[in-house]
Amino acid sequence: MERAPLLKLEGVRKRFGEHEVLKGIDLEVYPGEILALLGPSGCGKTTLLRVVAGLESPDQGEVLLEGRAITSLPPEKRGIGFVFQDYALFPHLTALGNVAFGLKGKDRWERARKALERVGMTLFQDRRPGELSGGQQQRIALARALAPGPKLVLLDEPFSSLDASLRAATREEVRKILKETGTTALLVTHDQEEALSFADRLGVMRGGRLEQVGTPETVYLRPRTPFVAQFLGRTNLLPGEGKGRQAETCLGPVPLAEPAFGPLLLSLRPEALRLFPPGAGPGPGALGVVVAREFKGHDLTYRVRLLAPERELLVQEGPESPFRPGDQVWVGVAGTGVALEGPPPRTPVGTD
Ligand code: ATP
Repeated sequence: MERAPLLKLEGVRKRFGEHEVLKGIDLEVYPGEILALLGPSGCGKTTLLRVVAGLESPDQGEVLLEGRAITSLPPEKRGIGFVFQDYALFPHLTALGNVAFGLKGKDRWERARKALERVGMTLFQDRRPGELSGGQQQRIALARALAPGPKLVLLDEPFSSLDASLRAATREEVRKILKETGTTALLVTHDQEEALSFADRLGVMRGGRLEQVGTPETVYLRPRTPFVAQFLGRTNLLPGEGKGRQAETCLGPVPLAEPAFGPLLLSLRPEALRLFPPGAGPGPGALGVVVAREFKGHDLTYRVRLLAPERELLVQEGPESPFRPGDQVWVGVAGTGVALEGPPPRTPVGTD
């Protein structure tokens, strides 16, 4: 049986003056799911979230919650919670006051206390936002968004003001809370690692369109377009000739994740390549020279220039890999490539 989506966007378009920021977005988010929207600055992520929240109205298209069109409902009638980048807490209210603010009914203080308990902030309930750390304010904002028991929460770069270690820990906690409460979340981020580790599915946006939606594994391992392949992690784009389960390339035959025929553009991740001393490579490959070496502790990325045809490739090895700039190496293929659709991006990935 097919699950019904909790949130559905149908052909959503939004224009600011001459600039069409959303160019026909179709998206389904399922109950209990965390979906992250990822994309370069200015691609329309926040605008999409604001359309779902009711803070912007689309020029065309529908927003449906549990099958009901909510496109013309004001934000407060939608039953959606949101957490913005700056948390938007009231500075003059205590943590408890902030959480209770949007609640109605006699038991509102009790419910606010419960919401604070859920995010581990009971001890801080009498403090004002100015007396709390970024991570603590983030949890108060989340408690406030979750206290009314919304089916859907919208999170706009919710971890962006936290430092790296607090960010990872807070992310894990927030994920746990969302899963425990069965809350569906739509999240905006431009942090790839955050999207890959936090979300159940990702939507990669580019220039007002959703270019690919899928699980983190699918989008990373089976990118559909050159843009997605380059935006999510690093990759090598190689022209080739599809021959079914493999493609003929300048590195010789490369196994393909899915069969393909004819001229194609291949995405080959740096971890799908290996370096050997010249003459020692076990299979197909090509000769090259190491031009750069980037040691990152847990791994090591080389930039290698092939001798013929002249082309640079990224190769990822373990931290003990011994090669140095200037070394001649044999670049061997140790993984699979993915045949992409469409031309390579003309502008550098990361701008739009
Ligand atoms: P970032 O990652 O930098 O936050 P984003 O993908 O969230 O970017 P949006 O904030 O949705 O992008 O903005 C998309 C485009 O729409 C940008 O060019 C922005 O300048 C423009 N834009 C957004 N809101 C308005 C507005 N109210 N009026 C005019 N232009 C706007």
